[in-house]
Amino acid sequence: MMFDDLRDLYQEVILDHGRRPRNFRRLENATHTARGDNPLCGDRMELFLAVEEGGRIADAAFEGRGCAISMASASLMTEVLRGLTAEQARRMSDAFRTMAMTGSCPACEGDIADGMERLSPLAGVHEYPSRVKCATLAWHTLNAALENSGREASSE
Ligand code: ZN
Repeated sequence: MMFDDLRDLYQEVILDHGRRPRNFRRLENATHTARGDNPLCGDRMELFLAVEEGGRIADAAFEGRGCAISMASASLMTEVLRGLTAEQARRMSDAFRTMAMTGSCPACEGDIADGMERLSPLAGVHEYPSRVKCATLAWHTLNAALENSGREASSE
């Protein structure tokens, strides 16, 4: 059964990123940071972005602790953000939240299609409404970070 195989593969991606999150570190040269908190599950994270002069995201990393879904979502997000403009990142954030809530993604086209494809293992959370906030926490934190330029530390 193709569908079951795909489902297993997707779960494998989430478990792998949840256990061994990528880009799990502080960025010393961060230009944008924010903290995110999902009290419903106990997920917490701090996101670091290094945004270049022209508005392109050169690097993204995070630290935190939480359930496998929240960590996997942040890990996958930091992988796809690299090289995007802030504007593309905001569009991807909107698209991701729709995908996590509904399981489908009409906005996942054009220049964000490849990145959204890599995030698609998380689309399955829409079947578990209580876990949607776990998956979207990283993206809420991203939006806060993009608002939050500057050298001052982070917003609580
Ligand atoms: Zn969680």
